[in-house]
Amino acid sequence: MDWFRSLIGSNFMSHMDAHEMELTNGSRIAVIGGGPAGSFFSYYALEYARRFGLEIELDIFEAKDFTKIGASGCNHCGGIVSESLVQDLATDGLVIPSDIIQRTISTYTLHTEQGTRIIRTPSEEHRIASVFRGSGPRGCLEKNTNGFDNYMLELCRQHGARVIREKVTALERTQDGIRVGCGKSPNRDYDLLVGAVGLNNKTLELFKGVCPAYSLPETTRAYISEFMMKPVDVEGSLGSSMHVFLLNLPQITFGALIPKYNYVTLVLLGEDIDKEIVHNFVRSDQVRACFPEDYPVDQIAPCQCYPYINVKQGRHPFADRVVLIGDSGSSKLYKNGIGAALITGKAAASTAIFEGISEKHFAKYYAPICKDLDRDNMVGKLIFGVTRLIQKSSIIKRGILHLVEREQSDAAASLRMSSVLWDTFTGSAGYRNILRRFLHPGLLFGLIRSTIGTLVPTFNHQKHEKQETRQTL
Ligand SMILES: Cc1cc2nc3c(=O)[nH]c(=O)nc-3n(C[C@H](O)[C@H](O)[C@H](O)COP(=O)(O)OP(=O)(O)OC[C@H]3O[C@@H](n4cnc5c(N)ncnc54)[C@H](O)[C@@H]3O)c2cc1C
Repeated sequence: MDWFRSLIGSNFMSHMDAHEMELTNGSRIAVIGGGPAGSFFSYYALEYARRFGLEIELDIFEAKDFTKIGASGCNHCGGIVSESLVQDLATDGLVIPSDIIQRTISTYTLHTEQGTRIIRTPSEEHRIASVFRGSGPRGCLEKNTNGFDNYMLELCRQHGARVIREKVTALERTQDGIRVGCGKSPNRDYDLLVGAVGLNNKTLELFKGVCPAYSLPETTRAYISEFMMKPVDVEGSLGSSMHVFLLNLPQITFGALIPKYNYVTLVLLGEDIDKEIVHNFVRSDQVRACFPEDYPVDQIAPCQCYPYINVKQGRHPFADRVVLIGDSGSSKLYKNGIGAALITGKAAASTAIFEGISEKHFAKYYAPICKDLDRDNMVGKLIFGVTRLIQKSSIIKRGILHLVEREQSDAAASLRMSSVLWDTFTGSAGYRNILRRFLHPGLLFGLIRSTIGTLVPTFNHQKHEKQETRQTL
């Protein structure tokens, strides 16, 4: 073969190699990880193969049992399913069933030290939902809570995937494929290996062995806890509103309370969130005010964790016969990680089924999707940088509250600020799109006017106070 290779030239040969690396009837795919990315990939790969008349075998290896309550069945997450994700899935005929949805969210409530404002959904179709990823928090009494990850995995099974409930412990490149090893069952050989293992460092290190140019994503610690409450109390205290906090507390970029049926999920994102940061947050007046008066908010919740979240994407998440998707590949900074899992899972599936499975195929058809997410995240970093400055400025926060109030109370007003905030909180729109809308002269002028408007009464109030003091003296 070598003489043939040198005779026809290496370029032509590598083109031939790439050409040979295609899935054919009987090809086998191993998907490691049955979270959203693994399930989305599997669902679309099986669907595209069916349309293409291609008979493939697809195995999903998943270490967790999503029917279990608590950490062993959960992929730690706030559980907000954005409207863009709901709409994208609906376009492909995938409607999230109502028994998965814990609560439909129709408004956002923005809390600052300067006041609170409710932001309505920009349009009636723009609705988001809260879900559990597993079967409910630790200590949960319900036995039949249906979580998002389990629903998706079952859907894949119905489409023909085989779900293997085992932890993958070894990956090895063979002459014409990839060998997958688990603790208990025998090794299996595959034509394509898909990494959808989230931010599990140990498993990601295994991938480096078969995908040498890959570099792991950079992460920081976030925080989640679940507060059990009577449904009537959730309704009475939080309603169908996601409560977002823009407080001047160090290291917190984003804090939110997400109402579920009989739980409220607290999510904190920022830099290396630790116990003290959590403590300061839950003890703030604004957070306490969201709970019934006698609720022990500052007691340690039975279900809490400090999961990792991506702050910088992994590099080069593909090689011949290997592709990494979701959090393991490229995600969306701080928001809509499930939506990003759909984007990368679907793009990797269409590349593998319709184009090929060589590094070149993934570089040409899959990498641009990851790069686009990365570029958007750079703008996202800028937006969160500005958000931190705003958090520290009571003057700007007053201006924002004033502008939002004007927009929300006037049916004819354009909802520029409200929709920018809505999309920043939900992650429904791309960060570039949000920045463009934020820089709209109409919004900037409105914000400056509102900010100055809130300053004038302050000056008048101060003047009045001084006069009063002089008179008393
Ligand atoms: C605090 C916090 C809040 C968040 N809130 C939201 C939110 O409200 N909305 C949203 O859209 N996103 C949110 N995200 C992001 C979202 O959770 C992730 O982006 C999403 O889960 C990524 O999906 P994934 O399938 O790539 O990875 P994961 O969901 O992590 O799934 C990876 C799967 O791989 C399995 N696995 C790993 N190693 C192995 C192995 N060796 N063998 C077998 N199986 C293995 C794991 O068990 C797991 O099931 C949040 C993240 C954090 C940290």
